Amino acid sequence: MKTWLITGGAGFIGSNFVRQCLAGEERLQIINIDKLTYAGNKESLAGHPNHLFIHADIGNRALIRELLLKYLPEAIIHFAAESHVDRSIDGPADFIETNVVGTFALLEAARFYWHNLDSDKRREFRFLHVSTDEVYGSLGPEGYFTEESPYQPSSPYSASKASSDHLVRAWHHTYGLPVLVTNCSNNYGPYQFPEKLIPLMIIKALAGEKLPVYGDGLNVRDWLYVEDHCRAIRTVLNKGRPGQTYNIGGHCEKTNLEVVKTICAVLDELAPTSPFIPHSALLTFVKDRPGHDRRYAIDAGKIQHELGFVPKETFATGLHKTVRWYLENRDWWQRVLDGSYRGERLGVFKNE
Ligand code: NAD
Repeated sequence: MKTWLITGGAGFIGSNFVRQCLAGEERLQIINIDKLTYAGNKESLAGHPNHLFIHADIGNRALIRELLLKYLPEAIIHFAAESHVDRSIDGPADFIETNVVGTFALLEAARFYWHNLDSDKRREFRFLHVSTDEVYGSLGPEGYFTEESPYQPSSPYSASKASSDHLVRAWHHTYGLPVLVTNCSNNYGPYQFPEKLIPLMIIKALAGEKLPVYGDGLNVRDWLYVEDHCRAIRTVLNKGRPGQTYNIGGHCEKTNLEVVKTICAVLDELAPTSPFIPHSALLTFVKDRPGHDRRYAIDAGKIQHELGFVPKETFATGLHKTVRWYLENRDWWQRVLDGSYRGERLGVFKNE
């Protein structure tokens, strides 16, 4: 039996990762540490005998050390973060606390643990840090982010993730900790908190509410179905070279306007009794997000050529699955909406 310790496994990508790994590997135990912030939801995690949930903050270094010594994991996969750009504009403090200081605490606990392993286990141990393409800043109409692109983060969120990437690499260069860093483009799929673009638009359209598109709607993002991201992380964990960074993307650039229009078309098809057809009539343009990066696009050639990873889903197939999931799992998102987040607009300066 092997053991992985993951952080942030009650969030969107982490919970998909737990589900996928436990479905695919019988001899795997997952220790899942999550603080259960507004974005963490235990209802996203189906019970499984090889899954142990621990309610804890990654910043609690003493507790993390204790858990590492108790469960002796072969790998740490670090998802936990404050992850929403608009929230980082409203209140950056939590982003620094978790993404920067929390990652530092986790690295220190991991270093202490790894240092005291016997030599075989030390060689095999991995610390995989899950990060974002937003650390590279914004692109013009041409070009792609590669693993060599300079860091130019522009929001408090991306700056905090960039800081954590630098810390993780420094722990490799300075202490030899066998780390892997992945920088991925925008994810979508089941169990995504309904403040992010795709679930927000699905839920608003089903309620017949206006669909707010920032600015001119022409900001471009590269989209990847969450299960493809999880497969990519497992590939990097199993085959990646320690100290290396791997970009993960979907070869799927879309403007925000195209994304929202496609969601409307899929809803027209999958929810034919909706009173709001055509859903695209709900589309409305609102003031742009401050400092909104224009375009992100990933060159995912390294992970493809070195590790043989390519996504399975296209945007059309992934979006169909996603819309269907939100239609079939209203209980999940309605309970989320009953909580503190009620779909209000975030990320506008308070004094405006
Ligand atoms: P999410 O906000 O849905 O989940 C984050 C999880 O971390 C939550 O369960 C939360 O409770 C937990 N958490 C927050 N602070 C914590 C702390 N101090 N201690 C322990 N747990 C804590 O985020 P997500 O979209 O699943 O993103 C996961 C990771 O992937 C993040 O590191 C994010 O930067 C990265 N990423 C996300 C995307 C995307 O499109 N969502 C793309 C690329 C990279």
